[in-house]
Amino acid sequence: MQLTDTHCHLDYHKFNSDRAEVIQRAVDSGLIRLLVPGLQHRSSQDAVLLAESNPSVYAAVGFHPTDLEEFSENNFKEVKELAKHAKVVAVGEIGIDYYWVKENEKRALQREALKQQLQFAKEINKPVILHMREENDAWFGEASVDLLRILEEWQSGLQGALAEKPGVLHSFNGTLETAQKALALNFYIGITGPVTYKNAEKKREIVKQLPLDMILIETDSPFLSPIPVREKRNEPYFIRHIADKIAEIHSKSPAEIAQITTANAERLFAWGD
Ligand SMILES: [Zn+2]
Repeated sequence: MQLTDTHCHLDYHKFNSDRAEVIQRAVDSGLIRLLVPGLQHRSSQDAVLLAESNPSVYAAVGFHPTDLEEFSENNFKEVKELAKHAKVVAVGEIGIDYYWVKENEKRALQREALKQQLQFAKEINKPVILHMREENDAWFGEASVDLLRILEEWQSGLQGALAEKPGVLHSFNGTLETAQKALALNFYIGITGPVTYKNAEKKREIVKQLPLDMILIETDSPFLSPIPVREKRNEPYFIRHIADKIAEIHSKSPAEIAQITTANAERLFAWGD
């Protein structure tokens, strides 16, 4: 079984004491690739260093919407330099977060930083990893509206391979309608641990409606641990619990889900060639 974790924050301090073991455990269990997204310039640099020293690890670079006090001209320049590295496969994670950020001014800055980073992704012809979180963790609201509007505008200016596979809505927590609008713009949908939660019937209903060839699976380690390891720190090794749940939802075998989602990730991030 060949699995891919398209979103794990292995640079995070919670892995400081056993990072090498965590990666080894993942690789030994059949994870062929792990993608570490950046949160600002330092985290992006750490992601690139991890990718440099581990054959199975790849990196993305960017500024997360809740880390924008770091979004300066100089730091952005640094991130642009990092993006030249051969193992940087995407710009991310970038996006809109109205859960942690309530002030209008700061929300406007999120949209501005997102637009600038989308423009950069277009220039270097790489897909984007998108974060979207609503105020009060609602299913739908201003974050979905603003993100879709910005993506629609960006997507209409794309050409070639990037227009066909512009990126992924990571750890998707929106409505079916939002997912369908993103799919219509050729975005993949990333599924994380909460799909396994007992009270996530509505989420599973949505996942059931998604075409399997547009789903990516991701742990978002060290966050969002799936059942049955919800009390533990999350790590890429636990991706199998998400694959198992999607297999159940779509009436497939876990091996089929592993194969399909690994192929999806390979298509989007073009790391197979
Ligand atoms: Zn993340």
